[in-house]
Amino acid sequence: MGRETLLTLLVMLFGGLVMQPLALLPSREPLGASPVVAERNAWQRLWLPVVPVLAVGAWLCGWALREPDPVTTRFDHGMIIGASLPFFVVALRAALRAIWVLLRRPEELPVCTVGFVHPRVVFDPHLARVMDDGPMHAALAHERAHVRHRDPLRIWLAQLATDLQWPWPWAYRRFQSWLELLEHARDDEARSRGASGTDLAAAVVATARHACRTPRPAPGPCLSGAQAALLGDARALAVRVGRLLAPLPASHRPPQVSAWRAATTPALLVLLLGAVLVWGAVFGNDILHPFLLWTWNV
Ligand SMILES: [Zn+2]
Repeated sequence: MGRETLLTLLVMLFGGLVMQPLALLPSREPLGASPVVAERNAWQRLWLPVVPVLAVGAWLCGWALREPDPVTTRFDHGMIIGASLPFFVVALRAALRAIWVLLRRPEELPVCTVGFVHPRVVFDPHLARVMDDGPMHAALAHERAHVRHRDPLRIWLAQLATDLQWPWPWAYRRFQSWLELLEHARDDEARSRGASGTDLAAAVVATARHACRTPRPAPGPCLSGAQAALLGDARALAVRVGRLLAPLPASHRPPQVSAWRAATTPALLVLLLGAVLVWGAVFGNDILHPFLLWTWNV
């Protein structure tokens, strides 16, 4: 079998075997944390089952660097293909859904942020005409917070990470919970930058009313668009408006996210993956060779 083909099958097989049990882990809802902190924690929880899979992939890539092509070790092709097939289906489904979100026309939402590389705010001119200045500025402040954090790209990536953990409903619930916290965090960020909670609540209600008058086709089941909207989840609207009408607690003002932490976390992850890749290159065959021979002898 070709080296790259076997590498793909092994990434699917071992990646799936690592991810599926991790996707079953219960997620702990943070109590009392400010939405900005809770959103960041929820984001990390979404990715927790994915990081070990990246490490497995890096280790196998390291192994493949020193493996002859085609692979000469004897192994049971049928067993490897059959065992990796279910995980291949999950990965293919996740990839197709991610591509579909990229290719389809963005859903026409009254107020939202679109774009991955250079996100921009889209405001329905019909809504802008009937909305007062205060709520409009508050809505724009909320959307600008989405722009600052590149939320359309983050939503797309989060959907992809969730789809890789299919079919477990817990993963989808973690995604929905993160989306809800994201809206609260952006509300608080807008308010901490001067937007009035009452104006923002009025903007949310006006946008919901406008959306009801001009119904649009709903997205597919369980598939979010890569847009960060003002409305967010309609089911959580009452809670959100209630939060906006209450005073912003001092402890819930968005803390300054440490630039050092934001820059070092991806760098540490890359460093870790690099170390695992070297480990795979040096010792990969010592572990994988007996496994492949075992499939042949079973
Ligand atoms: Zn929003």
